[in-house]
Amino acid sequence: MLNDAQLSDHRERLEALRDELSAQLEAGRSAADTVVLDQTKLSRLSRMDALQQQNMAQSTMRNVTARLRLVHKALARIMSGDYGYCDACGNDIEPGRLDVQPEAPCCFACQSQQEYHPQS
Ligand SMILES: [Zn+2]
Repeated sequence: MLNDAQLSDHRERLEALRDELSAQLEAGRSAADTVVLDQTKLSRLSRMDALQQQNMAQSTMRNVTARLRLVHKALARIMSGDYGYCDACGNDIEPGRLDVQPEAPCCFACQSQQEYHPQS
């Protein structure tokens, strides 16, 4: 259970994170556009290079978008008073975990289970 000071602390960090991620998304969008526009002028090799960069940019953008979504959800949970509880099992999320990752939607145990891939 988080006290009010901890809650407002996390909220400030989440709001800063939201602004930072939104800015990254904005910057990433214009960078991706630039790559597409320049492609006709490039040789085959630099085109492949540009495509690879674009793929990397796109996967970064996907990560940023996913994280931003979690940040928005976490902020909504602060408003509704559900922040700090695991989305999956309802237990408290470890405070140390929230310090590192204030947007974490679930506790460490549930996160580990979701990320468990037997083949990899
Ligand atoms: Zn859990």
